[in-house]
Amino acid sequence: MNVLGIETTCDETAAAIVAPAEGEGETRGIVRANEVLSQIAEHAAYGGVVPEIAARAHVEVLDRLIARALDRAGLRLAELDGIAVAAGPGLIGGVLVGLVTAKTLALVARKPLLAVNHLEAHALTARLTDGLAFPYLLLLASGGHTQLVAVKGVGDYVRLGSTIDDAIGEAFDKVAKLLGLAYPGGPEVERMAEAGDPERFALPRPMLGRKRADFSLSGLKTALRIEAERIAPLAERDVADLCAGFQAAVVDVVVDRVRVALRDFANVAGHPTALVAAGGVAANGALRRALAAQAGEAGLAFVAPPLNLCGDNGAMIAWAGIERLRLGLTDDLTAPARARWPFAAELKAAG
Ligand code: ATP
Ligand code: MG
Ligand code: FE
Repeated sequence: MNVLGIETTCDETAAAIVAPAEGEGETRGIVRANEVLSQIAEHAAYGGVVPEIAARAHVEVLDRLIARALDRAGLRLAELDGIAVAAGPGLIGGVLVGLVTAKTLALVARKPLLAVNHLEAHALTARLTDGLAFPYLLLLASGGHTQLVAVKGVGDYVRLGSTIDDAIGEAFDKVAKLLGLAYPGGPEVERMAEAGDPERFALPRPMLGRKRADFSLSGLKTALRIEAERIAPLAERDVADLCAGFQAAVVDVVVDRVRVALRDFANVAGHPTALVAAGGVAANGALRRALAAQAGEAGLAFVAPPLNLCGDNGAMIAWAGIERLRLGLTDDLTAPARARWPFAAELKAAG
């Protein structure tokens, strides 16, 4: 079984081909091609993604990327078993480019269409890479989302908590902009933090000790801005210390929120097979180390995708397509493009 995955929901144009690993009951996938073209250069001057520029850029390169993915995998369109595409959530212009392309290919080649939720694809990446069994606790932390989710099965997700303001990736991006660092901010802040003193600035740890596993990051971002303005103009040393302080605060908050989510998980889904991190922020080394230590203390495995599968990619879309195809969950050509598309059910209040 070979499935093509198309991703155009944000600022990465991506096409990949994934096949399930051979063998009885295998849940892992094999990535046969994984083509990603980032639009960072197009958006850098604006300090963020410009939707209209993104949609046009997807149009310009998507067909070539798909051809290249097929080429790398040594396959023709006719040899595919399904066409998977991220049908949302995301910037609607970009989503439409991917969805219309996928529908056209499915129609012409008479293949099943799999309209995948981009967030669900992030959530299932640990099964692609590690063959992880359900249920597991997922920290999904990306540019647009921050959620703790009990992943119980394909299509069976319970949200234990989420951010009430900024997503973690968004907070990294805003802090980077504030400090004059390049876009996207996450990798830049992490790089600067390496040389910084995380204790020089006393930054808050919002939501620490709260009963529900929710996040709030805007207060931390504001506290950092006030510190930065107080000591301006900033020397390189100051920027490094601010980055280190911010990253340490984020890590502390995440670890505290995961602790709460692990407790709630037991009521919703029993004992988790692992603690999983996914989404662009899961590339952060300090966060990965902290979560690995926390999982170890809880007697759990820690699983995070390799760096190239943390950020947006087509392989995760293809894999989510495989999971759905196996269950017969195919879509027809009326599948809508969705700017908003929650993938997890809300945790019901206890009692
Ligand atoms: P969503 O998945 O919510 O639709 P998105 O697709 O734009 O949003 P991703 O591509 O999954 O998000 O992740 C991008 C985000 O990850 C950016 O905000 C970026 O700053 C952040 N990020 C990437 N690398 C790191 C890192 N090393 N440390 C912290 N954040 C990072
Ligand atoms: Mg992106
Ligand atoms: Fe994403």
